[in-house]
Amino acid sequence: GDLLRVPGPGGRSLKHAQAQGARVEIVYSPLDALSLAAANPGHTVVFLGIGFETTAPTVAATLLMARQRHIENFCVLSLHKLVPPALRALLDDAACAVEAFLLPGHVSTILGLRPYGFLASEYHVPGVVGGFEPADILLALCLMAEQLRDKAPAVVNAYPRAVADQGNPRARALLEQFFQPADALWRGLGRIPQSGLALRPEYADLDAMTRLDLRLPQVPPLPACRCGDVLKGRIAPPDCPLFGKKCTPATPVGPCMVSTEGSCAAYFKYAE
Ligand code: SF4
Repeated sequence: GDLLRVPGPGGRSLKHAQAQGARVEIVYSPLDALSLAAANPGHTVVFLGIGFETTAPTVAATLLMARQRHIENFCVLSLHKLVPPALRALLDDAACAVEAFLLPGHVSTILGLRPYGFLASEYHVPGVVGGFEPADILLALCLMAEQLRDKAPAVVNAYPRAVADQGNPRARALLEQFFQPADALWRGLGRIPQSGLALRPEYADLDAMTRLDLRLPQVPPLPACRCGDVLKGRIAPPDCPLFGKKCTPATPVGPCMVSTEGSCAAYFKYAE
């Protein structure tokens, strides 16, 4: 549902397209999209693959099933993003004011700790995998503060009831079977090398980009949008001139306002 409202170039969203007659369906899992394809053999079903390392393995499993079941009218538009390259890009930016990272618990169930090791070893920045309950977040913040106080940065797991230090190797293997890293565009941050996932060439028939000969449009920066500065820890969300005016959870301009986990959306909810 959130995704329908995100504006693309020119301010148009999937909701606009839907209102103009495009067939846009909300599904609760990629498997539902595959069932839709199986039930509509005369139509091509394109599943919009978004999210991070958490969701991509499920999409890979669906692609595997499409192959096994010979469902040929199904493909994926892969706009998945990878967390570690984005963290590295943030830290490589001299304007980044982030001193420590609260690492996402759901992504870490797949990745484990190792892909974040560079935070401490190369950049001397703490990284703490946190959970979603208030006590989980407080514990992670506490560990971060201790590391900063002691000048002893490390990558640690404060959410062991869900995250294994080695992550989920089977999910990663499935991911690597179907996807490979590719450059990706991030709102507010621009193009980050190898920070997205593209279908491997051997699965071109399942790749909407190839199959429908699509090109991603150039997306110019939005005037007044400060998403990049929020992500770099340079300003708090209310300092963005669009916050709560043009940009609200009902009319999001940037990704930080889209889901309830977004920093701007969380601020907005708190302010209410
Ligand atoms: S208020 Fe909207 S436009 Fe401004 S930084 Fe947040 S998400 Fe981006």
